[in-house]
Amino acid sequence: MNTANTIILATSNAGKIRELATALHTYGLQVIGLSAFPDLEPVEETGITFEENALLKAHAVSKATGLVSIADDSGLEVDALHGAPGVHSARFSDDMEFLPHETKDQRNMRKLLATMHNIPEGKRHCRFVCAMAAAKPSGEHLVLRGTWEGQVLTAMRGTNGFGYDPVFFDAQYNKSAAELTLEEKNARSHRGNALRALLAQWNTFYNKS
Ligand code: IMP
Repeated sequence: MNTANTIILATSNAGKIRELATALHTYGLQVIGLSAFPDLEPVEETGITFEENALLKAHAVSKATGLVSIADDSGLEVDALHGAPGVHSARFSDDMEFLPHETKDQRNMRKLLATMHNIPEGKRHCRFVCAMAAAKPSGEHLVLRGTWEGQVLTAMRGTNGFGYDPVFFDAQYNKSAAELTLEEKNARSHRGNALRALLAQWNTFYNKS
């Protein structure tokens, strides 16, 4: 493999890879995913902050592959739930049974909507948070945070995106995140904002020997 300008994205989430790959290509970077290294052990997300988890993943993957890696950790914080599901967003409904044909994302949203059924409009403020970390095999790293403020809807809307997108309402577009195109979402999203912050420091980080 020609590793010059090759970055490994420390995720196997196809939704995230789609969102990140486009932006990184414009920096002349080749992007590969974890599937290029099928023998890598999954990294346990044992941190209690988004930043800790993003750094854990970025360092582990960079060390194991010898490539510069980028990892993110993200989730949804709901004010009325004191910041839950937060760093546990992906596994929020692991204590519940699946309904027939239900995906994990749909089960997570079903639990969120049920937990918030008596919370009125106006008190459903939430934000997506993303910590984006880059690490070099030498151990040097960068970590930046991006957020996206919104409201939790009372029912799912739209079919684009992934995760909690159908229940996240963006007031500027007047649409759910799952009703946005990929370009519209990238322009507003926590991951887009974190990536823009990371790229603003990228050349200094990447070219420093
Ligand atoms: P991670 O893979 O540990 O970062 O977990 C992220 C989880 O947070 C995902 O499984 C989703 O449930 C949620 N999440 C993060 N970013 C987004 C997004 O852009 N849209 C919808 N859900 C998201």
